[in-house]
Amino acid sequence: MQITDAIHALKVPFELPLPDGGKLKRFVYAYLIYGETITLIDCAVRGYYQALFDYVRKTGRDPEEIALGVLTHAHPDHIGGALYVRDEVGCEFAAHGYDAPWIEDVDRQFRERPVPGFQDIVEGWVPVDKLLLGGEIIDLGGDELQVIHTPGHSRGHIALFHPRTGALFSGDAVPVPGGLPIYTDAAEALASLRRLQLIEDVQVLLSSWDRPRRGEEIAATLQAGVEYMQRMHRLVREQQAAHRRERARGITTRVVAALGLPPAMVNPLLMASVQAHIDADDGAME
Ligand SMILES: [Zn+2]
Repeated sequence: MQITDAIHALKVPFELPLPDGGKLKRFVYAYLIYGETITLIDCAVRGYYQALFDYVRKTGRDPEEIALGVLTHAHPDHIGGALYVRDEVGCEFAAHGYDAPWIEDVDRQFRERPVPGFQDIVEGWVPVDKLLLGGEIIDLGGDELQVIHTPGHSRGHIALFHPRTGALFSGDAVPVPGGLPIYTDAAEALASLRRLQLIEDVQVLLSSWDRPRRGEEIAATLQAGVEYMQRMHRLVREQQAAHRRERARGITTRVVAALGLPPAMVNPLLMASVQAHIDADDGAME
């Protein structure tokens, strides 16, 4: 799907196993920036190269032109397809230094964050050739990409702004109301959202798990993310006050019910988000 003259999106479906033996259908967006070379933003899941290479050829370019992949963070649905792309076209990868250890050692990532189905969607590890801190401007050859450190969802999560087209790639930094809000540091995640709200001249907001947002929808989507986090925080505090002996699992079950979400959403990732709210300073969540 073409987003602007230079930006293209691939919506990549995948499945994760559920404890009851069923499958959870999910998708993730990965993006391409066409310039003198081709830059990838994230690498979706294992097998994604087929859709990627087909798409690149269909649009009159050659996969060999892919020179760089920038990974917004280390989670499996963003790095899963990186290895094959690297093997085929020899591109370099860039990511934040805090997330690089999980990209370069996926077994360690799985030990420390055991997402069910991890091995099914991650092809293997890739070296991170360019370590980022945030604040850099990546030279794309006559074009540039600004790196914004947006921790919270993961410590090394980055967003990327492409000034020429006004595209803001937000990765997983913007929680979608009604969706699974995932972060390990709630105050940092909220501060990161506020950082994204300050970027001027955004023409299109490109999240990994939401359709492209343009015009007035951009500010509304970012603000909805802020308010969703603040609502979560209030609910966590209310449930903590009402059920003083309960810990993250019990509080998560009650918060999911209060939000009107399906009970199946109570899982270790959401429990980590609730724990992040339990640990957060109230002043930082206002
Ligand atoms: Zn993620």
